[in-house]
Amino acid sequence: MDTISETWGDLRNNVKSCGFSDCPRNRDKLPIFFDRSEDSLSKVKFLVLSQDPGANLRNEVPSGDPGEMEDYLIGGCKKDGPTGNTPINKMVKIFCHNFNPSTDEIYWTHALKCVPEDDRDIRCSSGWRKCAPYCREYFRKELQLLPTKELVIVALGNYALALCRDILMDRSLFYVGGIVTCVRKTDVNKSFAFGEKRVFLYPFIHPSKREMVLKRWDHDGKVAKKEEEFIRKIRKNLEVKC
Ligand SMILES: [Zn+2]
Repeated sequence: MDTISETWGDLRNNVKSCGFSDCPRNRDKLPIFFDRSEDSLSKVKFLVLSQDPGANLRNEVPSGDPGEMEDYLIGGCKKDGPTGNTPINKMVKIFCHNFNPSTDEIYWTHALKCVPEDDRDIRCSSGWRKCAPYCREYFRKELQLLPTKELVIVALGNYALALCRDILMDRSLFYVGGIVTCVRKTDVNKSFAFGEKRVFLYPFIHPSKREMVLKRWDHDGKVAKKEEEFIRKIRKNLEVKC
């Protein structure tokens, strides 16, 4: 497997050009990876892991230019954007303020950096199986390069959770189910070891599916309550009042 460099800038360059020579991504669908200056990395206390950059993004940024896409997403985090069940709106709701994922204490990244050949493929297991083993190495490196010794990961949806469980709990990368049970069972005070870091993992139902999932699987309301508990803990950690 190709090697990954040791600095944030090198990592970004590797992701953007994808250093994995047999990666299945479409060369026209470049990965999203927000830039960060090395000195802003020490600020990061929260990492939000989304599933993938999203096919709809290409409708919002018809040029498909990755720089423009990143600007669009960063702009959405920094100001009140369009309403809807998007990861950006979910993040702003959780953290209770707008932020800049390139400079602030909240860092945003995606489980799948490389978009597979077929957008529709992303959401089925074959797309995940093709790309996740490569993107896992990038995510591992992101975690290693963040200097904080205590990190809170907010995982949005099944695929983000699968990647975190693989890395933190040694579960199969390809097990993408069980988020409802996982949310229910997660202890807000439990942390995992990653090198010298303590990592807290707070999974959330993906915002685009949340309404449907809760309606179907959360008759006792415990999943929604647990998500609220995560949010309270995060805001306490951030010292924000809403
Ligand atoms: Zn790739």
